Amino acid sequence: MKTPIPEYLVEVLDGTQDGGEVASYIPELARVNPDRLAAALCMSDGRLYTAGDADTRFTIQSISKPFVYALAVQELGLDEVLKRIGVEPSGETFNSASLDPHTQRPDNPMVNIGAIATHALVRPDATVAERVEHIRAGLSAFAGRELELDLNVCSSELETAFRNLSLAYLVRSVGGFEQDPRGIVEGYTHQCSLLVDARDLAVMAMTLANAGINPVAKERVVDEAVAQQVLSVMTTCGMYDATGDWMTQVGIPAKSGVGGGIIGALPGQVGAAVFSPRLDDVGNSVRGVQAFERFSKDMGMHLLKAP
Ligand code: GLU
Repeated sequence: MKTPIPEYLVEVLDGTQDGGEVASYIPELARVNPDRLAAALCMSDGRLYTAGDADTRFTIQSISKPFVYALAVQELGLDEVLKRIGVEPSGETFNSASLDPHTQRPDNPMVNIGAIATHALVRPDATVAERVEHIRAGLSAFAGRELELDLNVCSSELETAFRNLSLAYLVRSVGGFEQDPRGIVEGYTHQCSLLVDARDLAVMAMTLANAGINPVAKERVVDEAVAQQVLSVMTTCGMYDATGDWMTQVGIPAKSGVGGGIIGALPGQVGAAVFSPRLDDVGNSVRGVQAFERFSKDMGMHLLKAP
């Protein structure tokens, strides 16, 4: 791979007619500056390259899902988690109300219904506040920094979280978890409201790509097998219902969020993150996707590229 210098990407993409709209179904997200643009790369030895608004913080949203899945698999073991949540692409929108007709499980942990079920598996006997704190601490270990919550975004989302509540009730109705669905959605929404910047996300992605060891803190966060499981699910389900396009064009295990972030994790090599809030129709950052297409082409990052 060539020396990674994300600056050129920010130059290429800055001021481009990127199209897309910021997410507005969470009222507070509609207020972010749509022109922000950041890129960050973290290498396996912890070296970081950043460009653009790399210090701008934004809410992690769905990018929390692979990391909370990692915590659940680490704590319960893969077999227990697989009994509750599958690993198949759903082919449906991120907030679809669907369960596997045969097993009654959510299809995978990257769609909302599966992420809500995953959230409930972490410290199932804890209070909502204790579970949120456990997840905050766990994701902080991935980032190598104490992450904080954006309580404005959180309460803004909770005011209109009817869809996620209905998903939680659906999972609860088939015995996917035992807790009160309202507390699970409250906790899940806090999880989505953790504040990160592009640098944090690059380190978090590299921790997954580095067999579970944070490359900056040099500390193990999850087992190697757990990191591999998470990357596998990101490969097939990480980019909403555009994951097939993404894997053919970009070819990197990835996850995006409606806050405008995208992470990509190339095993053993690099953790990458881009932030740009305008989203396309399926919910992926428009310039984020463009940036990753350039990363992949210019640096030969496609997973299936012949050596
Ligand atoms: N908190 C958001 C939700 O549950 C996250 C969605 C996303 O980033 O895809 O709707």
